[in-house]
Amino acid sequence: MPARKIGLVGLGKIARDQHLPALDANPDLDLVAVASRNATLDGVANFPSLEAMLDAMPELDAVTLCTPPAVRYDQALQALAAGKHVMLEKPPGATLSEVEHLALKADACGRTLFATWHSRHAPGVARAREWLAEREIRRVRIEWKEDVRVWHPGQEWIFEPGGMGVFDPGINALSIVTAILPQAFFLKEATLQVPANRQAPIAAQLAFRDGRGTSVEADFDFRQTGPQTWDIHVDTDAGRLTLSKGGSELYLEGALEHSAPEQEYPGLYARFAELLESSASDVDLAPLRHVADAFLLGRREIVEAFEFD
Ligand code: NAP
Repeated sequence: MPARKIGLVGLGKIARDQHLPALDANPDLDLVAVASRNATLDGVANFPSLEAMLDAMPELDAVTLCTPPAVRYDQALQALAAGKHVMLEKPPGATLSEVEHLALKADACGRTLFATWHSRHAPGVARAREWLAEREIRRVRIEWKEDVRVWHPGQEWIFEPGGMGVFDPGINALSIVTAILPQAFFLKEATLQVPANRQAPIAAQLAFRDGRGTSVEADFDFRQTGPQTWDIHVDTDAGRLTLSKGGSELYLEGALEHSAPEQEYPGLYARFAELLESSASDVDLAPLRHVADAFLLGRREIVEAFEFD
């Protein structure tokens, strides 16, 4: 099978940091075009919009959407209508309803819709899931604290409605926890700290319970300077499991169990290529559902105004 022709939309931070190298390394996929209003890439066809790219390049097989979530639904719908397979960055959309609708559309037209969760491809995650499957879970604590100025420099959209604020990284933790815990859990209480001049939270504390009353707590914060924290601790009947550094390191009872090179985006594109073989879709909304629940149930606290500089 010749390599599939891919068009990338939204040439921003994550596209440059991760998508370009991962596409470059995948022999089954060939990046041939970019659509971005303010950026271009050498060596491919460049367009100011998705519409212009679809019009000029009917030979494209698929598009990968690296734009912010609030604009992805319209773009995905347009790409599916043009007969293209679609890969969505996380979070897959601004609302649950729109992503569910996209999944129905993809199904109806026989095209792949892939809602990616890059953190699920972190090196420790698969082994953590396997280990926890046989354990009794007693308590889960998530600490996801990073400096928004470092990881999202100047990204005003992140604090706009639909930008999700601190849930933009927090949803990565939820994507891991929903993948490794053997049982479902449900939000019981949440507090969202929203800067006085913004629409989306800069920090959040969430308290979930599973069906047996086991506690799952999450502490998300965008204001962390210095060392960054992306840790998940799971206490079990056989001791503590810790996934550290966003899932790249796995500790069992304090001993490093697994350390492999980071392969999140190569993993995502390998999965996309596999889905394209059969035009199958992969759309798991569990992490986005928890975020939606936090916005439904959360108590809002107004905190100090935030500016990027
Ligand atoms: P970004 O640097 O702002 O890049 C997004 C690009 O999309 C922009 O450069 C822009 O390119 C285009 N865009 C922005 N607003 C748009 C709009 N209203 N309509 C059409 N295009 C628009 O953001 P990013 O960090 O790459 O994040 C993009 C997505 O990747 C987010 O969902 C984020 O959660 C996810 N992600 C980010 C990271 C990270 O570390 N930053 C990690 C993993 C996943 P043009 O202006 O040239 O059109």
